Amino acid sequence: MADEVAVVKNCAGCKKIMKKQKRYYRNGNYYCNKNCFNNKQAEESKPSAA
Ligand SMILES: [Zn+2]
Repeated sequence: MADEVAVVKNCAGCKKIMKKQKRYYRNGNYYCNKNCFNNKQAEESKPSAA
């Protein structure tokens, strides 16, 4: 009964909800596109400035 998968993913880069947009799946996360993926990568590669 709970097998229906209607998961709305958020872009791991810009956090926007992705409904009908083509998802860009990388490293276990979904992104709007390659650009968001690159942004996220750049973010993560930075030394954590908390
Ligand atoms: Zn995005």
